[in-house]
Amino acid sequence: MSNTDFSSQNGAGGPPYANGPSQNPVALQPPGPGYMAHQTPYNPMQAKGPMPPGPGLYNSGPYQPIPPVSSNQALPGQPMLKRPPMGPQHSMTPPQSASPNPGSRIPPAHATPPPVSANNYQHAPAWQYGGTPPMGAPPSMGAPPPMAMPPLRPVGNHMTSSPSLATPQASSAEYRATPPVFHNAMQPLGPPTSLQGYTQQGSAPLLMNPMAAPHSYQPVMRAPYGGPPPSVRPTPPTTGPPMGNASPPLGPKTDAGPLPPQQPGPPTRHMGLSYPSLPPGYQNTSAPPNAATMQHPVQPSTQPYSHPPPYQQLSAGPAQLSPSLSGLSLQSQTPEALRVVNLLQERNLLPLGPVTPPTPCLPQDLQKINCHPEVFRSTLTSIPQTQSLLNKAKLPLGLLLHPFKDLSQLPVVTSSTIVRCRSCRTYINPFVTFLDQRRWKCNLCYRVNDVPEEFMYNPVSRSYGEPHKRPEVQNATLEFIAPSEYMLRPPQPAVYLIVLDVSHNAVETGYLDVVCQSLLENINALPGDSRTKIGFITFDSTIHFYNLQEGLSQPQMLIVSDIEDIFLPTPDSLLVNLNECKELVQDLLRSLPQMFGKTMETQCALGPALQAAFKLLSATGGRVSVFQTQLPSLGVGALKSREDPNQRASAKDIQHLSPATDFYKKLALDCSGQQVAVDLFLLSSQYCDLASLGCISRYSAGSVYYYPSYHQQHNPAGVECFQKDLKRYLTRKIGFEAVMRIRCSKGLSIHTFHGNFFVRSTDLLSLPNVNPDAGFAVQMSIEENLVDMQSVSFQAALLYTSSKGERRIRVHTMCLPVVNSLSDIFAGADVQAITCLLASMAVDRSVTASLSDARDAMTNASIDSLTSFRTSVLTIQQPGLLAPACLRLFPLYILALLKQKAFRTGTSTRLDDRVFAMCQLKYQPLAYVMLMIHPALYRVDDLTDEGALNVSERTIPQPRVQQLSVEKLSRDGAFLMDAGSVIYLWIGRNCNPNFLTQVLGLPNYAAVPLNMNMLPELDTAESQRTRAFVGWLREQRPFFPILHVIRDESPLKASFLQNMIEDRTESALSYYEFLLHIQQQVSK
Ligand SMILES: [Zn+2]
Repeated sequence: MSNTDFSSQNGAGGPPYANGPSQNPVALQPPGPGYMAHQTPYNPMQAKGPMPPGPGLYNSGPYQPIPPVSSNQALPGQPMLKRPPMGPQHSMTPPQSASPNPGSRIPPAHATPPPVSANNYQHAPAWQYGGTPPMGAPPSMGAPPPMAMPPLRPVGNHMTSSPSLATPQASSAEYRATPPVFHNAMQPLGPPTSLQGYTQQGSAPLLMNPMAAPHSYQPVMRAPYGGPPPSVRPTPPTTGPPMGNASPPLGPKTDAGPLPPQQPGPPTRHMGLSYPSLPPGYQNTSAPPNAATMQHPVQPSTQPYSHPPPYQQLSAGPAQLSPSLSGLSLQSQTPEALRVVNLLQERNLLPLGPVTPPTPCLPQDLQKINCHPEVFRSTLTSIPQTQSLLNKAKLPLGLLLHPFKDLSQLPVVTSSTIVRCRSCRTYINPFVTFLDQRRWKCNLCYRVNDVPEEFMYNPVSRSYGEPHKRPEVQNATLEFIAPSEYMLRPPQPAVYLIVLDVSHNAVETGYLDVVCQSLLENINALPGDSRTKIGFITFDSTIHFYNLQEGLSQPQMLIVSDIEDIFLPTPDSLLVNLNECKELVQDLLRSLPQMFGKTMETQCALGPALQAAFKLLSATGGRVSVFQTQLPSLGVGALKSREDPNQRASAKDIQHLSPATDFYKKLALDCSGQQVAVDLFLLSSQYCDLASLGCISRYSAGSVYYYPSYHQQHNPAGVECFQKDLKRYLTRKIGFEAVMRIRCSKGLSIHTFHGNFFVRSTDLLSLPNVNPDAGFAVQMSIEENLVDMQSVSFQAALLYTSSKGERRIRVHTMCLPVVNSLSDIFAGADVQAITCLLASMAVDRSVTASLSDARDAMTNASIDSLTSFRTSVLTIQQPGLLAPACLRLFPLYILALLKQKAFRTGTSTRLDDRVFAMCQLKYQPLAYVMLMIHPALYRVDDLTDEGALNVSERTIPQPRVQQLSVEKLSRDGAFLMDAGSVIYLWIGRNCNPNFLTQVLGLPNYAAVPLNMNMLPELDTAESQRTRAFVGWLREQRPFFPILHVIRDESPLKASFLQNMIEDRTESALSYYEFLLHIQQQVSK
């Protein structure tokens, strides 16, 4: 493959240049010749160009499209509009994309990031699919300094408008501009006036997993080595939730641990956070108890912490040193993570409970405040010192982020001075070093900075002179309320625009009732304040606007039939203040489902409707929610069916994974430039070309929801799922006009981003909306050797406008050790993070190259890493397929990916289903992606309270996770499979009659209905246990998984069995066969 395949910053399927690294103002323009200046790849999309609109192209149904008679056509009784109806709408029209400065809201400092050579991203990728080892492939000569280096001039903070930041001098002036506030020193008892306090966010949404709430920010105390807990098999009864990163406390429970006497009053206590200090006795926790008895066929590890680490807060004196020192010599014994496992012999490798992420091998005082792995984690928790070492390990290096996750506890800081590195603009964080009370050293660029006077006062302890105890230095995740210099304009209000397909097909599905009803029910729960605005557009072959202006007796529909040149009929009254016009809005929602009840219009002009939405929101920014039920057939963006159902299973390679037109991507980029995000709800039983339509959300940082075979009558489970999703969607937290910047220590650089966004510059993502369910991945490379460094840090800063109109910055900082031996790299491998990153990379590869290429690449990834382990780490060669314990699940996960809907072959898979699975792999957070890839299987006909969890006075049984093999399904049992968005309950033919009667309320097996989606609420212990367990699984994710009860004759039985990853199918290897295949390759 060519290296450029990985350089496509916004993923595959689009021109790699479009979001390439050399972003400059031009880059916000739609693709044009200028875009390609630095990039060589041919862009097939451009060659095809947009589909020319014309009636002949469309799948006209029984009703022939009626060409627009006049440009302004009105229904009887509706006002006839003439274009141009009034002057102002032109002014509403945003600057077209050709505008030289489309991102007019972007301060100059950002619109023109420091020059970065395009070559920067054309280096050999950090990791290649099974390619010949690009060992030590040096960065091309003359490459620009890595991004983490101090730029020639500081890159202003995301949206910082202050032009004074444009030069270092100005930057320092910024700091000088905050003169030392002398009275603070003189009056240490009162907070400085500029510190408005330090508040706990009271309204933080509930954590998805109630069990995790008290633990969400606790250090996960495990054995000090990375990797799974020492007791992979003999773990105590599982008490954790089944998701890998739900972080059950595995080690000594430290919540109540006494505080070390030398740490007076840790601020975290005052903040209501639970970062307990450890009792001294725990701080010298050594290797897992069984480590000493293990075989040690691995090279002795180096001891990266054989010297006192440099993090001692010198100003704090020796008392602060002891916790750091206690983290020494962690690797004196072979860690459990490196225990050698012969995969061919050990069949069941699944832990009893969740797969937990490894703990970075850092001194414990640092690790305990490190960023939580649910929010921020790395594929390698030990960072290789050099790129060549990374290449030898054959493991991908990257970050997985869930930056806006709902958190039960989030420290919020209000301060007039946000302390940041003068050079690289990193936010001060727990991993900086205080040289003395007045100076701190940046952990990303190593510049020494002054401590501003204001920072000398600690609002938590109300003491002066302890800058290292400030909340900013005690929390790896926290949020700032941004002062005015972080705003270029007043923060935008919450603006919501609902765009509804009302063609015959749409009305027939009955979805309009659900959307309108859900909006009516949740209208007061939409995030926002007194400024919140709302508007509606409906469309079929024409575009319908709704005048909701205050004073009207009823909503007024305005129809624009000139879809070739969309304009806004009454620009000022289409988006209205929700509070002032709520009654009209409610009127509209009550009448909309009937308004189109008898429509015969089959055509659907989605593209023009989206153009209208863009025009309507471009002045303010906001969120567009589009509901679409068929292939768009009219106007710009019209599409033709590209799927041949007969080829689904037999095709050698899968075609049409990339968009058919660049219309949706271009429009998305325009939207992004105006802070508009588009979320797409696709409800359809027919092919809709999600590969094309999805671009509208992908590049505007929206989300895609897909409900195949949605129908109000025929698919009640789908309706329930849609209702639940809508409720979450309408009421969840939202951030507007957001940007996220990811910084990393000098020497590291960002290679590729994965997720839904637009890359504005090398390290800056444009997110017109950010939602708490969005995940991101970042591939990293090592540009400069990290010698002399014991650790590196990564910082993600998300600047957004809250729905209450506050500008806020959420900052996550993660610190990881640097190692110089392969065994240490392997010991810190996070198999789930690696799998998720590979999945994202494979999606790109499927689109830019081919599906078979991507499949080979994934297989090679497991072969190459195990080969490297065998040849470079193991000193004693043994027969078998050997893996370090921390990677023992790697081949299983790779096989699971190969059988996943996104990548499988030889099985009939609808193209939209496949593309949707690819979307999910790219933008879902890790926990849900892992359930999609490797579902959790439980036996549930014999649930007991043994080892059960207690959640809000409910008892949640915790059955153990079973292997995904039909062998495990016994006919006398019932098994629950949690596949993330779907839960299957399989009933064996000879299922225990007690389960049938007590849980399903059915007399016998034959009575199990073919379409059963609910568990009856029976007053039996068995029913309560089962429903408690299913309910608890559902609570742990923001979306609503449908439950399907499966029996032998059920139509969905095949879907259930397709998740039996370890079994052989007609077109795919069994797990054991796959292992043999890998072994052959490894032994070569
Ligand atoms: Zn710095």
